[in-house]
Amino acid sequence: MKTVANFDRIGEENAFAVLARATALAEQGMDVINLGIGQPDFPTPPHIVEAAVKAMRDGRHGYTAAEGIAPLRAAVAADLHRRFGAEVNPDNVMIVPGGKVTMFAAILMFGEPGAEILYPDPGFPIYRSMIEFTGATPVPVPVREENGFAISAGETLSLITPRTRLLILNSPANPCGGVTPKAEIDTLVAGLAEHPEVAVLSDEIYDQILYDGEAHVTLLDYPEIRDRLILLNGWSKTYAMTGWRLGYSVWPETLFDKARKLAVNAWSCVNTPAQYAALAALTGPQNAVAEMVAAFDARRRVVVELLTAMPGVTCAVPKGAFYAFPNIAATGWKSKPLAAALLEDSGVATIGGPDFGTLGEGFIRISYANSEENIRRALGRMHAFLGTRR
Ligand code: PLP
Repeated sequence: MKTVANFDRIGEENAFAVLARATALAEQGMDVINLGIGQPDFPTPPHIVEAAVKAMRDGRHGYTAAEGIAPLRAAVAADLHRRFGAEVNPDNVMIVPGGKVTMFAAILMFGEPGAEILYPDPGFPIYRSMIEFTGATPVPVPVREENGFAISAGETLSLITPRTRLLILNSPANPCGGVTPKAEIDTLVAGLAEHPEVAVLSDEIYDQILYDGEAHVTLLDYPEIRDRLILLNGWSKTYAMTGWRLGYSVWPETLFDKARKLAVNAWSCVNTPAQYAALAALTGPQNAVAEMVAAFDARRRVVVELLTAMPGVTCAVPKGAFYAFPNIAATGWKSKPLAAALLEDSGVATIGGPDFGTLGEGFIRISYANSEENIRRALGRMHAFLGTRR
């Protein structure tokens, strides 16, 4: 059987392969500590779980509108207004099954052979995979350690050509934990005025996971690009709901109906009880979010301290999300062999930097969405490993 060429180009996310290998080793009796996968180690707050149970008991078992239930779309708009003062019309909000789905829809909308799509490198691996799937040309925008893992507006703008159709931004960022400062975003948006044909996909899924008093800068704050901005966000990271498969997007009016039709064709609607849980997440108490962020913050400090004490390792202090991206070049190891050896020899799962892009060589990604005790044990093993196996 011959499938279409697109399926020869589709990639994947190695974090899932590492998770499978870590699980297999654990099943064989190894004490494996997972600093690979990017998901909060906390359970979903109980009032959110209860809202889903109630929806099921109340008989909310059928389809909803493809774009989601009206109170949830209104709650998303209200939440964006509460947090950023942004004016968002609930009619432009779409509830989708996970943050990834917005990415999928947006890249499908703009990607085709001959088109160029700019995306962060190192960055979330699905950006490049989906761009290649559509046949478009992926154009990496470098995310540099010396720049605090922020995007450079000048470098980004210099990569735009007449063939550029979409620019993907992500701050706070996976995998480096970088946050792009407001001044840089101001410059970028100002420069985009000269490229009115370029759409922007802003992946803000980590917008509440920020440290040191940093305030999130949303692209919604820039009225001059609102007619070409697709906002990606969701519940997975903020409310510890990765397995619920919930996300939302805000679309420009001109694109909303295209996205809605894609939903009708592909997934009909998001799981109905999950939508009621999402509503409870946005309208209920927010203290669990603050508690989780405070825990991530404490772990972040431990991670940086322990990593920088290792021979040949340096680590920039992450500003957001729950990842550290230590530079391991001076250990003498390449990234992927080091990540593989740490897992097989020491039972510590991490992800090699090249799994996030060409500029990832020399780094590994450490997810600190794990208990402080596990982080200490895992990094203790890594330190010992580097001490003996250089
Ligand atoms: N965007 C970024 C930058 C991510 O790191 C992730 C998940 O790791 C996603 C989107 C996808 O989120 P979801 O699990 O809601 O599909």
